Amino acid sequence: MKVLKFGGTSVGSVDSIKTVIEILENNIAKGEQIAVVFSAMGGVTNRLIEIGKMAAAGNAEYMEFLKVVEERHFVVVRGMINVKNQSSTFAAVRGLFNELGDILKGVSWIRELSERTLDLIMSFGERLSTLVISEILKSRGVAAEFCDARNLIHTNATYGMGDVDFEITNKQILEYFAKRSALQCVTGFIASTGDGITTTLGRGGSDYTASIIGAALDASVIEIWTDVDGMMTADPRKVANAFTIPSISYAEAMELSHFGAKVIYPPSLQPAFAKNITLKVLNTFNTDFIGTFVQKAADKKDYAITGISSIDEIALVNIQGSGMIGVAGISGRLFTALSENNISVILISQASSEHSICFSIDPKNAIKAREVLEKEFSHEISLGYIDGISIEKNLSIIAIVGEGMKKSTGVSGKLFSVLGKNGINVVATAQGSSELNISVVISKSDLSKAL
Ligand code: ADP
Ligand code: ASP
Ligand code: MG
Repeated sequence: MKVLKFGGTSVGSVDSIKTVIEILENNIAKGEQIAVVFSAMGGVTNRLIEIGKMAAAGNAEYMEFLKVVEERHFVVVRGMINVKNQSSTFAAVRGLFNELGDILKGVSWIRELSERTLDLIMSFGERLSTLVISEILKSRGVAAEFCDARNLIHTNATYGMGDVDFEITNKQILEYFAKRSALQCVTGFIASTGDGITTTLGRGGSDYTASIIGAALDASVIEIWTDVDGMMTADPRKVANAFTIPSISYAEAMELSHFGAKVIYPPSLQPAFAKNITLKVLNTFNTDFIGTFVQKAADKKDYAITGISSIDEIALVNIQGSGMIGVAGISGRLFTALSENNISVILISQASSEHSICFSIDPKNAIKAREVLEKEFSHEISLGYIDGISIEKNLSIIAIVGEGMKKSTGVSGKLFSVLGKNGINVVATAQGSSELNISVVISKSDLSKAL
């Protein structure tokens, strides 16, 4: 069994869907047993979020925006299914849009958009793209079946990024697939709680869906089909001379993706890694290209560094004070308080003087982080043991990643000197003892130059 996943751009237009169908039919012709996961059509998830927010704000214009999204799906049906088979697909698509329209009407009445409702609204993106493509396949004589991943993947009720319950999920996937012979077209990104409430796996989560299913079924390979030539040394949209990394380890891929390489969603690496299944990152728009193999051990490379990632926008939180020196448990309390409030930490740096700890977070969590920490350390702040919590914004992170760094000296020297020579100030830095990653925090205005 091989699991394929096609991202938003790959299913974003009639032309690209034609290529997707070709890739699938080639696999079938070769006698491969496959399952396929689809993202929403490119841009649709963002649009649905916008539409939900408009409805919640009482802006009736959301209906026009919804019509545009509907039309994008109709264009695909018209372009890919012959006239005599179109009507049932049109009816099914219309049915989903009616359902979504009702939900949005509810949102606009109560003027409230909870995370839970937003997950439900977003789920329509993958349900629609997958429905349409499964119907296209059927109209071409392929024995295909729409599979709603909400029936297979179960998460807790953390809306926006559900935590997968692998015990039940794996069992459900195995039971489901054991009874099916048709090609399963699976909705990426979406899941549900045990009591049937729709959840999502986090933005970019369709990669995760593919990995969860591939791992549960002991797939021979998981193919992530996207819009670039595999995992590259840097984001090709930001660095013109970035080039493909032919072979990369799970650990390196995890570091690169955690630090901004959105070509693969970081949690997706874990299920594949646990089962030692090769992940291939391939380009739908350059199908002959070999792409990237993500495996336990990567082939030897010519360079100490495998790739460079960046996160455009972070906030740096600094907590300092003389009362922190030598006091056990401060960082334990700090990170527990953040985690209890769902604030995830991107990078941590503490000097051995223990006078200060600084860490970076998503700027949208900055206000909450300050509140949480001022509450947690109110006693220490009132006694003057901790000076207070400062937050700096308009910063970015650059990370250089590579297993080759373990064996070579002078990599960090080179990094800092090249930044220094170019007048780029380093605000904070972190290197894990695994020596897989050196990260530096710099001003956002220096990011493209630094890259
Ligand atoms: P999909 O919809 O196929 O999942 P995404 O937009 O989520 O595609 O991810 C692909 C994008 O990731 C690319 O278009 C590219 O701009 C971006 N990207 C960022 N860093 C990297 C990298 N190191 N290698 C390749 N792509 C990268
Ligand atoms: N459609 C979802 C998103 O835009 C999931 C994905 O594309 O992987 O985040
Ligand atoms: Mg993606």
